[in-house]
Amino acid sequence: MRTFPQLDNTLTPPRPMARVVLVGANPGDPELLTLKAVRALGSADVILYDELVDRSVLEHAHSEATLIHVGKRGGQPSWKQADIHEVILEHASAVQMIVRLKGGDPFVFGRGGEEIAALRSAGIEVEVIPGITAAVAAAASTQVPLTHRDLSRTVTFLSGAGPGHGLPDFTHIDMAALIDGQHTIAVYMAVRTAGALGQTLLDAGWAAHTPVLAIENASRPGERRVRATAQDLALRPQALALQSPAILLVGRVAGLPVHGPVDEVVQTTIERVQTQNQELAYA
Ligand code: SAH
Repeated sequence: MRTFPQLDNTLTPPRPMARVVLVGANPGDPELLTLKAVRALGSADVILYDELVDRSVLEHAHSEATLIHVGKRGGQPSWKQADIHEVILEHASAVQMIVRLKGGDPFVFGRGGEEIAALRSAGIEVEVIPGITAAVAAAASTQVPLTHRDLSRTVTFLSGAGPGHGLPDFTHIDMAALIDGQHTIAVYMAVRTAGALGQTLLDAGWAAHTPVLAIENASRPGERRVRATAQDLALRPQALALQSPAILLVGRVAGLPVHGPVDEVVQTTIERVQTQNQELAYA
């Protein structure tokens, strides 16, 4: 009679790595979350979230989920990207699902690309659930369109922070190439560099009266809007009294009527113009 080798029951198969999902949490309003994001939050065992994630978004987390804040806290320095990767990797062999929750959209100034590369190199595949980026949320709440048939045919998402964080660095963008009057620039992380941004626009030949609309805390209860011009930005950026987080919309669309309150700090002489169907406050 044939005998079969006994199965060795002492060896347990290696635990599969966790599912890692990079989720966009939007810039504020939790109602703007996608259904996919809500479902992912409800199923995650571990959630790592950034400073700019509205805490009410975390109410969708499972009651037993481990929540890890990986943003800046009380003057402490932010977590280093490498430390975040390490925490994800540590948990990946112990749980089934990890959500990495990021403000706005993970792929717009969200370092989503770096996190994916680090996880892939450790053999972990990642899924991505998009979120609404700050410029899009700010456009919706002010009802200022980023594109407009008469006023803007292109949009650029620009970072106001240099690679070393905070240093003005607009050298990589050809502002002069964008001054055809048909372009919108949405500037992220520009609170500290607003003056340098204004000066860069003027140096490149943008009109002094080019409208700039800054939106602080877009889609959050404390949302504030302030309107100025490129010249105001260059000469007296402090007049806008900007607080982070804020997004700056630059270009003719920023002169359109704003839905809701707006602080006007414009000192530059403004010329009112008529487009096909709307009067521009500034152009
Ligand atoms: N991934 C994010 C951007 C992160 S960079 C996104 O897609 O929106 C951080 C910058 O985003 C801030 O400095 C600010 O310029 C902008 N931002 C984030 N939340 C914002 C908000 N609620 N209102 C205005 N700007 C915001």
